[in-house]
Amino acid sequence: MLTLTLKPREERRLRDGHLWAYRDELVHAPDAVPGELVRLVAHDGSSLGSGVYNPLSKIAVRLLGGEVETLDTDFFVRRFRTSLQLRRRMLPNEEAYRLVFGEADMLSGLIVDVYGQYAALQMLSAGMDRAKPHVIEALRQELPDLKGIIEKNTAQTRKKEGLELVDAVVWGEIPERVHVRENGLALEIDLLGGQKTGYFLDQKINRRVVGSLSAGRSVLDCFCNVGGFALNAAQGHAAMAVGVDSSESAINSATRHAEINGLDNCQFVKANVFDLLREHIEQERVWDMVILDPPSFAKSRSAIRGALAGYSELNRSAMKLLRPGGLLVSSSCTQLVSEHDLLDILYRESARIRKRLRLVHRGSQAPDHPVLLSMPETQYLKFLVFEVIGDP
Ligand code: SAH
Repeated sequence: MLTLTLKPREERRLRDGHLWAYRDELVHAPDAVPGELVRLVAHDGSSLGSGVYNPLSKIAVRLLGGEVETLDTDFFVRRFRTSLQLRRRMLPNEEAYRLVFGEADMLSGLIVDVYGQYAALQMLSAGMDRAKPHVIEALRQELPDLKGIIEKNTAQTRKKEGLELVDAVVWGEIPERVHVRENGLALEIDLLGGQKTGYFLDQKINRRVVGSLSAGRSVLDCFCNVGGFALNAAQGHAAMAVGVDSSESAINSATRHAEINGLDNCQFVKANVFDLLREHIEQERVWDMVILDPPSFAKSRSAIRGALAGYSELNRSAMKLLRPGGLLVSSSCTQLVSEHDLLDILYRESARIRKRLRLVHRGSQAPDHPVLLSMPETQYLKFLVFEVIGDP
């Protein structure tokens, strides 16, 4: 096995539990097949554990959290078993869940989402991509009821690893619609055509929170995708929930979800949220709850300013639509924007339009997306609920 050595004094972060060694931290980055299993050592020769190596990537070595002899099916079976134990403990009887969340499961670059008898994979590192046959075999062993596995390898970050973009069924069969239940709602997930891995599982618990706060309220769910928050609000007896998304297929799925769950107190509109909020302000529309769950606005540091401006505009607009006593639900999945940054935006924008807000709830990603403390990169989802205070 190839041994790679870190430059002097570069081992601190890795000793503290971070799992990435950058190319410029290595004494020498030799040519090798992307995804090869290597051993990483500090400059004094002491071991930092095994990892997968990609000479094409800035993240040259992704550690696997210990000494690993071979990346075979048994290795993945053992890792998946541990991952499954945590999910069964934290989210018992859940049909749709994230079984593997990359670094937080010590499998840097691998995402596995389970939807009943089907699984969706994402490989974001050459190491995991190369191990695909073992990943598939191990999943079949650990989840013997599986009927089909699909790879949704369409994330642009794959290019940084020298990997192609692919979206293909890799084992068994995937039906047009996969049926699962979440929070008591029947969902039909379009794994063959859907975004990302089909459904945004990370908001599962936060959707419950919205459901519990919705009774009797008018709810505007911005960036609703296939209906997540709006459906939970409707199920929680909202007076009316309206979901908005720019994707026609998402709106069609959301509408179908309302139908199959017999919810007649919600409807879905295809529109650009920025435009729709402007129109509602012009029309002086008033809502009891406005939910903002936009897509990630910044994947790199250079895009942070634009992201902050986007959050500022959205949150300011949403506040203008809320009646006193109304709730602003503000989420952000941009890893590079912290909860502190988001709170600061809310404070500044509310002060600017002379609205008083109080924070009544904060959430984060569901427990099947655990946060590895030594890797702040694994913490990305912010979920804040504010009440707009009226004149006392
Ligand atoms: N709230 C959803 C997840 C939102 S994902 C849930 O609970 O499942 C972000 C969504 O924003 C995607 O569905 C995408 O189609 C939509 N989107 C992106 N930009 C948009 C825009 N400018 N206006 C409306 N929708 C947009």
